[in-house]
Amino acid sequence: MISVAFDVKGLILMKVLQCCSLCIFFLPPQGPTQSPFPGLHNAAPPVSYYQSSPVPPTMPVRPPVGGPLPPPLQPGQTPVPSQNSAPPPVSSTNNYYPNAQNLPLSSWNYGPRPPMGMATPPPGNHVTSSPSPVPTPPSKGISAPPLGPNASVSPGPPLPPSSLSSWAQPQPGSVPPPPMNAMSPQTYQPGRPPYGPPPTAAPPPAMRPTPPPTGLQGTATPPLPMAPQNEGMRQAHTASNSQVHNSLESGDRTFTDPPFSQPGPAGRPIGHAYPSLPPGYQNMAPPSNMPPKHLAPPYSSGPAAYQQPAVGPAQLSPSLAGLSLQSQTPDALRMINLLQERNLLPPTAIQPPTPCLPQDLQKLNCSPDVFRSTLTSIPQTQALLNKAKLPLGLLLHPFKDLSQLPVVTSSTIVRCRSCRTYINPFVNFLDQRRWKCNLCYRVNDVPEEFMYNPVSRSYGEPHKRPEVQNATIEFIAPSEYMLRPPQPAAYLFVLDVSHNAVQTGYIDVVCQSLLDNLNALPGDTRTKIGFITFDTTIHFYNLQEGLSQPQMLIVSDIEDVFLPTPDSLLVNLNECKELVQDLLKSLPQMFSKTMETHSALGPALQAAFKLLSPTGGRMSVFQSQLPTLGVGALKSREDPNQRASAKDIQHLSPATDFYKKLALDCSGQQVAVDLFMLSSQYCDLASLGCISRYSAGSVYYYPSYHNQHNPAQTERFQRDLKRYLTRKIGFEAVMRIRCTKGLSIHTFHGNFFVRSTDLLSLPNVNPDAGFAVQMSIEENLVDMQVVSFQAALLYTSSKGERRIRVHTMCLPVVNSLSDIFAGADVQAITGLLASMAVDRSVTASLSDARDAMTNAVIDSLASYRTSVLTIQQPGLLSPSCLRLFPLYILALLKQKAFRTGTSTRLDDRVFAMCQLKYQPLAYLMLMIHPALYRVDDLTDDGALNINDHTIPQPCVLQLSVEKLSREGAFLMDAGTVVYLWVGRNCNPQFLTQVLGVANYAALPQTMTQLPELDTAESTRTRAFVSWLREQRPFYPTLHVIKDESQLKANFMQNMVEDRTESALSYYEFLLHVQQQISK
Ligand SMILES: [Zn+2]
Repeated sequence: MISVAFDVKGLILMKVLQCCSLCIFFLPPQGPTQSPFPGLHNAAPPVSYYQSSPVPPTMPVRPPVGGPLPPPLQPGQTPVPSQNSAPPPVSSTNNYYPNAQNLPLSSWNYGPRPPMGMATPPPGNHVTSSPSPVPTPPSKGISAPPLGPNASVSPGPPLPPSSLSSWAQPQPGSVPPPPMNAMSPQTYQPGRPPYGPPPTAAPPPAMRPTPPPTGLQGTATPPLPMAPQNEGMRQAHTASNSQVHNSLESGDRTFTDPPFSQPGPAGRPIGHAYPSLPPGYQNMAPPSNMPPKHLAPPYSSGPAAYQQPAVGPAQLSPSLAGLSLQSQTPDALRMINLLQERNLLPPTAIQPPTPCLPQDLQKLNCSPDVFRSTLTSIPQTQALLNKAKLPLGLLLHPFKDLSQLPVVTSSTIVRCRSCRTYINPFVNFLDQRRWKCNLCYRVNDVPEEFMYNPVSRSYGEPHKRPEVQNATIEFIAPSEYMLRPPQPAAYLFVLDVSHNAVQTGYIDVVCQSLLDNLNALPGDTRTKIGFITFDTTIHFYNLQEGLSQPQMLIVSDIEDVFLPTPDSLLVNLNECKELVQDLLKSLPQMFSKTMETHSALGPALQAAFKLLSPTGGRMSVFQSQLPTLGVGALKSREDPNQRASAKDIQHLSPATDFYKKLALDCSGQQVAVDLFMLSSQYCDLASLGCISRYSAGSVYYYPSYHNQHNPAQTERFQRDLKRYLTRKIGFEAVMRIRCTKGLSIHTFHGNFFVRSTDLLSLPNVNPDAGFAVQMSIEENLVDMQVVSFQAALLYTSSKGERRIRVHTMCLPVVNSLSDIFAGADVQAITGLLASMAVDRSVTASLSDARDAMTNAVIDSLASYRTSVLTIQQPGLLSPSCLRLFPLYILALLKQKAFRTGTSTRLDDRVFAMCQLKYQPLAYLMLMIHPALYRVDDLTDDGALNINDHTIPQPCVLQLSVEKLSREGAFLMDAGTVVYLWVGRNCNPQFLTQVLGVANYAALPQTMTQLPELDTAESTRTRAFVSWLREQRPFYPTLHVIKDESQLKANFMQNMVEDRTESALSYYEFLLHVQQQISK
């Protein structure tokens, strides 16, 4: 390794100072000098030539008037754009419980009473609709026009018919979705022959490959390739095994289970009664014993009663009228006395509610895995929403790995000329040549090209185009969606090599993982890679092709960081792979003897930003301690003595705005920063995390990381790295969420920066990122039967293709409170409330956030009681669909993010908050409320059979120690980690046949794998654990724990139904809620 040191302004002194023949150390020159790299700090070429998009006229955005003032800026803080969360005019407050002040229990109010609530915008990653002093130059980066309203896309002259590069066909033999407007034969007759041959001016359709007209099983055509970005992810599912609209779910067998409202298999007891409760409580029958009339799946009478073959939204009125929920109580509205019914958990995974739409529309609807609303029935007015006391918002997982994704290559992407909505399954074809936008209702022409259907290879079927048959679709974007040529995938690794970091041994893991996965990094022949290490100085690595070995360049001037050799630090991976491998092999030893204890993280980040600025890309930062040198240096703010006792937690907001400002600069240059914190000490995640939050990166946190001392962390780190390095990635991304006129999006949650009112800037997008938005109803939706929501994600693939992924969801509009309640999605509500509570903790206080969550339960159940129930009864009454709401909120209150009275390290708390804001709902719910199973007595009763594998389906147990038994073994699935707790007197057969040990004492302290034993018990247990793990893209670590294990505390902390010293039991919580309601 050749080492070259630079100092002030980059002058290189040609004096060899030290050590080995390979290591050249240059002394700094004396005095101030001129930089040999003039303009380097501004050297990044402009990456965009677009102006920011103006606010789309059709996206109603509440002006930030009337709302309380934004929070005061901290000294030195940049006036960062405040969140666009001004109140909706209809309620004069910006919350979704605007009338909260009218209730006696009003501490849950997101805004009406300053200083509480969302009215005081959190220091969010947002801008308001008014011009704001964002440090990001508006002209930098990929900006809005392609998605914006003013991008002029004219149908122009007839263009060649589009082609499909990949297309999942409906299953042969299945009934093809009927045309959208079969109801209007006077204007358009789908059954009639096409209007003549394709125009002669149009060349024959260019298909790549030619999609078979009748499905994939036809022998005449070769199978279609998967969408390019699906590589490596769940390709096992063939295109022929499901229809397109089902294909999004095909990887998630969880969601093919029966709905939760159905009883479990006979003979499977679901939990037990409270032993210490009144007899009535104990004896209450579980839900499965309810009268049969309640067992019908939710809404089963609705779509079934619908006789029309197919309709477009414009024809929905009469048919939806017949779907009124008031004529019959659906299961979702079945009244439950929570104080009496103990067994509320469904035996299997909880299904999201199905929107109450005609079957034909619902069949086309977006998968709830990707797009979900807290209310699957949208209230007609804000007043009605206010009355329901339920939050209205959307949860998105827009870049989720999909097993099948229709991809369309088209020279013309058909969009509404007014609001720029992409054509989708819920538009209405007035006739063959005109379609009506389902968001703004403008009537648009059907471009000539769109008349040709590449799937059926026929002309005159615009309604059968893939764009109109799929709620999730991806377009290969033409050049007008590019601001510059798509950039190569660029990966920069920034590694802390201070003494503290080296001691943990993490560098070995990172280097080894990179060596193992170098060829699996998403990219193509243009992929770039680079490395920076830092302690008190910053070390660059010249990897220029032609060098015999990597050259280390040391810059010790951390006050004014520069790039010593800007052109050879970020190199082509293909051309320089050997040098990269050499570096990765030698890096772990290079600093093994270091005595440098300081960390110049801030300057290192500045250097990395400069290096990535020209191309954009991904910066992966590994940090092990508080940064102590240069800009961005931090001091410890945590008092360990206050961890348990403090009622309100201080220092949840950043200590400096350095990281946020730098993140915004990164965002402007299409650079996302992912932060891996490996620390045993406080490292101020609240400050450091900003670098990822505003640049659309992610934060990973490994407290007490040590390769030897903490094998559980090491395994998780290794597993996370593998996923991180190999998962799909999108660069230069922006996402816009549109909704039907009358609805308004006002607050975003997740990691991003809001470029303009509704345009999220995402320098990187990854398949594990979730987003949420809050909505209000600005104009009454009186004449509407349905409303639609569309998320469009424009990104550059790792192969350098510009792509647009579009998700469209359609939901019914209702005008009664009972219908609103019937459509409530308790998991989505919980997820959105969790994000809102994180903001509340930062802007107001932790106790305020806790009160708000509790009051969400109180208010909604009070509203149900007073406004929906016609017969009043004693008890704590809930509709069936919300029966888990109090439990989930209690679980949230006991989460690390929000808990009090328990010693919680500040970084642990902040990290939990990051996760609540960033994780997709499916993972979030397991984090909030893990699933507990007894596994020492698994049987094949009720087992699933998947690919000839029998997967046992044990019941989900309540999270209470009363469900545990020393004679048993219990598996807890907490999303990213799976615990197998083995009781002291565990059935010996389980120990020998599954764990492979003679007795309990022989069980090792650390065990992270189940041995592959040739016994029925072992096969069954491993099948179940594998099945759980396969349902998420990352691989949860398994820990076998016994009473003495360190991890037992983590396991027990998840017993959220039990009382702790500082927190209520579930039953006590219910009593508290009931008491508040009846006040
Ligand atoms: Zn429109």
